[in-house]
Amino acid sequence: MSKKKKEVSNTLTTAFGIPVGNDLNSQTAGERGPVLMQDVHLLEKLGHFDRERIPERVVHAKGAGAGGYFEVTADVTQYTKAKFLSEIGKRTEVFVRFSTVGGEKGSADAARDPRGFAVKFYTEKGNYDMTGNNTPVFFIRDPLKFPDFIHTQKRNPGTNLKDPDMFWDFLSLTPESIHQVTILFSDRGTPATYRNMNGYSSHTFKWYNDKGDYFWVQYHFKTDQGIKNLTREEATRISGENPDHATQDLYDAIERGDYPSWTLEMQILTPEQAKDFQWDIFDITKVWPHGEVPPIKIGKLVLNRNPVNYFAEVEQAAFSPGNLVPGIAASPDKMLQARLFSYHDTHIHRLGPNYHLIPVNAPKYAPENSYQRDGFMRVDANGGNGPNYWPNSLGGPAPDPTTGEPPFEVAGKAGRHPYTHPNDDFVQAGNLYRNVMTDQDRENLVGNIADHLSGAQKRIQLRQTAVFYKADPDYGRRVAEGLGLDIKEIERLAGMSQEERAKSTQE
Ligand code: NDP
Repeated sequence: MSKKKKEVSNTLTTAFGIPVGNDLNSQTAGERGPVLMQDVHLLEKLGHFDRERIPERVVHAKGAGAGGYFEVTADVTQYTKAKFLSEIGKRTEVFVRFSTVGGEKGSADAARDPRGFAVKFYTEKGNYDMTGNNTPVFFIRDPLKFPDFIHTQKRNPGTNLKDPDMFWDFLSLTPESIHQVTILFSDRGTPATYRNMNGYSSHTFKWYNDKGDYFWVQYHFKTDQGIKNLTREEATRISGENPDHATQDLYDAIERGDYPSWTLEMQILTPEQAKDFQWDIFDITKVWPHGEVPPIKIGKLVLNRNPVNYFAEVEQAAFSPGNLVPGIAASPDKMLQARLFSYHDTHIHRLGPNYHLIPVNAPKYAPENSYQRDGFMRVDANGGNGPNYWPNSLGGPAPDPTTGEPPFEVAGKAGRHPYTHPNDDFVQAGNLYRNVMTDQDRENLVGNIADHLSGAQKRIQLRQTAVFYKADPDYGRRVAEGLGLDIKEIERLAGMSQEERAKSTQE
């Protein structure tokens, strides 16, 4: 076979490399048309344009991304055998995507919303994804509620408008959301830029070492740029002036060589410590208090490369909490368990079954040795003429029994179990309000809530304000004042069980 070299040329071509003679005038019968079917260049161009859009992510649609590296700064080999964490000074290439959650692809970066913080580590043992948020907790702890919750943060099915009734109706009937609602309505709900916020795993994960010992861990990427937030007024103004302000800030900072970085701190619990821990470590609505589990610094994340092409690298970037490398495993956190399924599933929907072949998603430093074959857009060699089944006696890739998570015990009855942990859902939100926030933080929090909740029906305002009151009476009182609600009514509602409160504020 002759080995022809690809010609280098700057001539415009069709998608199939055929030179194009004219790209301004369609082929027509006569000067004034009609257009001829045989103008295949026109047909190809229109046909591709008609298919340019891929499905928008149902959550985290608006995002910005950048490349960089992660460097290990402490010895963590006693906790994990993850190869990329195996020695101080070791660097691993990363790609990071930041995002808002509820808004569409064209929505404003300054919206009040959690921010996604997803990191893809291209390790020599395959790609490891840490898909976190800028908040250490979440609104709900059971994935069965997730689609409903997200619907309430989107548009009303009738009016196609954002709807404070939907938003607060659901949250006030889901009081475990109070901790996250308190963070979301503090000024941390409107970070100044993506560079000025932290990233948290929020979930608990499992680390295990080469002896088979395991530990429960949480990740905290602390911004080295310092936390900076927008006030409600600033966020409103910036949303109008430059809806892409955070996307632009990240891009401009990297362009000028001002590389943003984050220090990775870990909270680590032994299984024995976890047994006596006062909080349910698999409940994502709770944090592990720093005083009880002091975070330890273990690494640095640096972003120093802007994407060359947004669609190729950022829009097509696909992260999944299921991409876990040896040394790191999932925990029983029910929300995490559902995300292990849902992220991969949504990428198959959005990008196709071979999305792992798209360069930003493909393992860069590990081979892909699977027996998956075929499917739309299988654009690599598809395993060539090697075997496409296991077991085989043809020398195909074989499982390595030394890799993977050690077996672990489970117990209990299968069933749809309601949440029964004795520590209630209001304590940590109350601690945040009372002990962590400054007077200014509390003032802004109450103002932000009153501004938003005032758009909901009064019965919903009453129900939600009772939830604030349960977190802290002063918190509830101030929100009631801001909304002009009768505090006696709030106190009465706060004294009821959740079911009674829901019933007495029914439409
Ligand atoms: P600590 O005083 O040890 O920690 C408080 C932490 O709260 C700070 O380290 C900071 O976390 C974060 N924080 C500071 N200001 C605000 C704010 N305005 N809004 C939201 N978070 C803020 O106390 P605990 O560990 O006992 O936690 C008390 C409360 O602090 C928790 O109930 C939780 O709401 C909040 N919190 C706790 C975190 C944790 O992992 N323990 C993490 C974040 C918030 P950071 O350094 O991560 O910015």
